[in-house]
Amino acid sequence: MKKRNILSSNIPDQTTHKKAVCIGRNYTAHAKELNNPVPQEPLLFIKPASAITTFDSPINACHPFGTVHYETEIALLIGQSLSQATPEKAIQAVTGLGVALDLTLRDLQSELKKKGHPWEKAKAFDRSCVVSPFVPVTTETRWDDIPVELILDNKIVQQGNSALMLTPISELLSYISQFFTLESGDIVLTGTPEGVGQLQAGQTLCAKIPGLIEVNTTVI
Ligand code: ZN
Repeated sequence: MKKRNILSSNIPDQTTHKKAVCIGRNYTAHAKELNNPVPQEPLLFIKPASAITTFDSPINACHPFGTVHYETEIALLIGQSLSQATPEKAIQAVTGLGVALDLTLRDLQSELKKKGHPWEKAKAFDRSCVVSPFVPVTTETRWDDIPVELILDNKIVQQGNSALMLTPISELLSYISQFFTLESGDIVLTGTPEGVGQLQAGQTLCAKIPGLIEVNTTVI
């Protein structure tokens, strides 16, 4: 087996995530599928610690505030504090790579958007940020070529690659750090490619960074 050259074995304890910072519309094709304009600069939002969960238990598709949609995203685990960092400095703070679902109450989000209200209730609700275990970043990690996939009931429904991001990972981290200090244990979700959709009870999900991580769960 090929030996991994691990840059940092300092993977923070996964029970100590304080927040997840997320970006909306980081892939042109996804912005278009929801009839949203392509943003001129990153569109950020935060999910609190109470939103962060794992793939170990089933995902509940039944929510009193309407449909729950999946968005499959490359997730980054931050290993050291970052504030007002350059892209070069920011990328060095990433210690782990994972895959996440940014669960979204799409009906509620549409209502809030129409009213010009913030998205928090539709994006930052309890258990809305489902994250895989994180694999340590290595010298072989190619930030501009990370694939991501979601397989739903044995059919590929989302397929993306960091190469297609409007704001590349290092620039995204730098931008985030101008507003919010990223702390060790924080997670960054990098946006979803096209193919988002509604979760239905009975579905099986397989989210992956092909060749690196694969997680499975069911929908109830
Ligand atoms: Zn998202």
